Amino acid sequence: MAVPRNRVSNARKNSRRAHHAQKPKNIVACPKCSVAKLPHAACSSCGHYKGRNLLGENEE
Ligand SMILES: [Zn+2]
Repeated sequence: MAVPRNRVSNARKNSRRAHHAQKPKNIVACPKCSVAKLPHAACSSCGHYKGRNLLGENEE
């Protein structure tokens, strides 16, 4: 196993981690019930995705 030869300073460690911040998750509105949901996923409120209901509930 490789062993680091020198101690990484706090400044070098922190500047390396300066790029590690999380980006906010992309939120889209459900086209059926307009509740905020993640893209490419079924709506957690109505279960609707790609023109059909994945929960098996027909509420139309
Ligand atoms: Zn929905």
